Parts: sequence; C-alpha cells; structure tokens
Amino acid sequence: MAAAQAPGDGRPLIEMRGIERTYVMGDNEVRALRGVDLTIERGASIAIMGTSGSGKSTLMNIMGCLDQPTKGSYLLNGKDVAKLSRAQLADVRGRMIGFVFQSFNLLSRTTALENVEMPLLYQGVPAGERHRRARRALEQVGLTGREDHHPNQLSGGQQQRVAIARALVGEAPIIMADEPTGNLDTRTSYEVMAILQGFIGQGKTVILVTHEADIAAYASRVITLRDGMVIDDKQQTPISATEALAATPPPHAPAATAPPAAGATP
Ligand code: ADP
Ligand code: MG
Repeated sequence: MAAAQAPGDGRPLIEMRGIERTYVMGDNEVRALRGVDLTIERGASIAIMGTSGSGKSTLMNIMGCLDQPTKGSYLLNGKDVAKLSRAQLADVRGRMIGFVFQSFNLLSRTTALENVEMPLLYQGVPAGERHRRARRALEQVGLTGREDHHPNQLSGGQQQRVAIARALVGEAPIIMADEPTGNLDTRTSYEVMAILQGFIGQGKTVILVTHEADIAAYASRVITLRDGMVIDDKQQTPISATEALAATPPPHAPAATAPPAAGATP
C-alpha cells in the first residue's frame, strides 16, 4: 500500500495529454476520444459525465489501463503507460486500480468471500492472507456475516458492496467505477456513494462515470465529455451521501415525520 501510494516523483496521479482513441471497424473509423488533456491529483473525487456515446467508458478504460490510446501520452503515478505491453499494463492495473461496474460482475457460483478474494488469487497471495484481507474488505463495506452468501442470496446493493470490497482488497490507490449506481434504487445509491466517499477520507482517489447529475453531485470535480472531448471541467463542494442517506428513510420503515403521540412533550 505504502509503495503504491508514494507520490510518483511529486507528479500528479494522472496526466493525460492529447489522448485520442479511434476504433477501426472495417472501413469505418469511430473517433471516440479526440484529444483529451486531463490532470488529476491524488485524493480527488471525480465524476465523468456526458451523454451516451460521448466517450466516458473509452476514457475510463484508458485511465484504468484496460485499453491504450491511439495517440497521446498518459502518465500514471509518473510512469508512462501509453505504450506498455499487455502484461506490463495488467501489472500496473493490478497494483494501481480497483474497478466497480454497473452490473457488479460477480461470479454467481462463488461466495461473497471468494469473489472478494479473486484479485488476490491472481496475485498469488497465500490462502490465509487472502481470507483475512477479504474478510476485512467485506467488513469495510458493512457485510460482516454475509461472507458465505452467494450473489443470488444478496440484494442489488449488497452485491455492489461485494464488488466494492473486491475493488478494495488489492489496496490499490485508485477506485474506478463505471455507472456504479446504474442498477440501484435511490437509497441504495446513497449507500454506495457513502462508501465511495469514505474512501476519499482514507486518501484514495475515486473516479466514477455517471450520466446522472445527482450522482455527480457527490464528487468534488465534474468533468463533462461531448463527442470525445472535454467540454466542461469544474470543482464543486460535494454533497454528503451519509447525510442524504440519513434523510431518506428505508422503504417500509415508519415515517420519520410521524406526529408525536398525544401528550408527548416536543
Ligand atoms: P459512453 O461510455 O460515453 O457511452 P463510449 O466510450 O462507450 O461512450 O463510446 C464512445 C464512442 O465509441 C461511441 O460512438 C461508441 O459507439 C464507440 N465505441 C465504443 N467502444 C467501441 C468499440 N469497441 N468498437 C467500436 N466503437 C466503439
Ligand atoms: Mg459507457
């Protein structure tokens, strides 16, 4: 953890210059990113917004070292990752980034604990340490006691929390989430956003893609894409998901605004 979070010779966490990504399909070329410049500091909480097809996922895939740019430079933690081999890219990804997806992407025949252990299995972490770290990650997202549940025995919000625990377990300094609340109801979205906001306080950098303005309101910086270019980039005071959650009663709970019983002192 210490090594991954050490400042890369004082540089910003992410520095992208002139990033282009062109998909070639037969005779057709789709210019999904057309010259993106971005600098992101450690500990930032970023929302990437834009309509469908504006290039959000393409940008996140490049930022997350799942894909590489057609053109441009990308320094991640001070290291040039734009031209690494696939194996080198996978190594950087494993150390630097935890991913959360809209569709949770859990293995259905596998328990919550085993799902969370998966990245550590690929890293060759011994079984005892794997279990310990996976249990701790599940505890951090409030799922103690659910270790042995399978995904179909968990609610959508709980499944997304398992996915967040899986993103956490490698102790990567960056959490990237593509539409993490896209399949969740409002209250569950607040729960997930509260967990993600908690990571900022722990020094992690959280970058999420969303097309919902009310989810972007939980970030401290909103970057808007259109047609593969950044058209807006602004800082804001994030609203607190913990407060939003507290103000939203769970479904079926007694209404918080029920009048006081007769005779009760105010
Ligand atoms: P968003 O996430 O904002 O909806 P995407 O990054 O997925 O946008 O897509 C940006 C553009 O690139 C779209 O026109 C999309 O059709 C195209 N695109 C995305 N992925 C591919 C791909 N693998 N092959 C060809 N075109 C793609
Ligand atoms: Mg997308």
